[in-house]
Amino acid sequence: MKHVVQFSAGIGSFAAALRVAARYGTSDLVLLIADAHAEHPDLWRFADDVADHFKIPLTVVADPQGRDPWDVFLDVRYLGNNRLAPCSYWLKQKPCRDWVEANCDPGDTVLYVGIEGTKHDRARMPPIVRGWSPWPVVFPLAEWDERPADKEELFQEARALGIEIPQLYRDGHGHNNCRGMCVRGGKGAFVRTLRTDPEAFAYAERREQEIREHLGKDVTILREQRKGVIHRITLTELRLRDEAARHDAAAQPTAT
Ligand code: SF4
Repeated sequence: MKHVVQFSAGIGSFAAALRVAARYGTSDLVLLIADAHAEHPDLWRFADDVADHFKIPLTVVADPQGRDPWDVFLDVRYLGNNRLAPCSYWLKQKPCRDWVEANCDPGDTVLYVGIEGTKHDRARMPPIVRGWSPWPVVFPLAEWDERPADKEELFQEARALGIEIPQLYRDGHGHNNCRGMCVRGGKGAFVRTLRTDPEAFAYAERREQEIREHLGKDVTILREQRKGVIHRITLTELRLRDEAARHDAAAQPTAT
């Protein structure tokens, strides 16, 4: 039986791999990971540490055109956002699906997804199962653990093996993907990236502007509601606001 973990280098998929290895060993374990050409370098450090722990190589797949999410948005003429993110299909789902179709027989392969066992996470399971049909999918954290996993406990599982958790988690992000610039992240995630990784933010800001000019439309990744009205907000506007807020905070007299 081949055991293929959909390994995103997130802490959930790491924990899923750990549970699969504990149950079935590592001789038929595959860590399947998609390179979206947008990851934080420390994501790959973590992925390599996990692969070294299991003493197996990573199985890395990627878009054959070598695109990053922004290149995809240009090609499909749509700026991804938290309602629709075509980058996910072209850079992650399709390369993984293509690899599974080329290398795995549904009769002797099980796919594993590191979704945690909360009510919200459980609602995501049926569409994932349908999407991977005819390959069977197991969710080790949700289906094997006695209670929903706490992220901090999963971090401890990594550290107990001598594996430092990825930089994005240490920076306070909830996910380890696309260098804190996931278009599905909200304003808070982008502000966090602005403050912790300004170089990554500057790249996202430049590419968003490029796509706006290319499409000739007022499109943005982020939107916000003010007085019941939805407004678009560019990453440039978000940065200027944050800079002004920090300037104001610095100008406040300190309490004595
Ligand atoms: S992590 Fe976010 S930005 Fe990156 S490919 Fe997935 S949906 Fe797109």
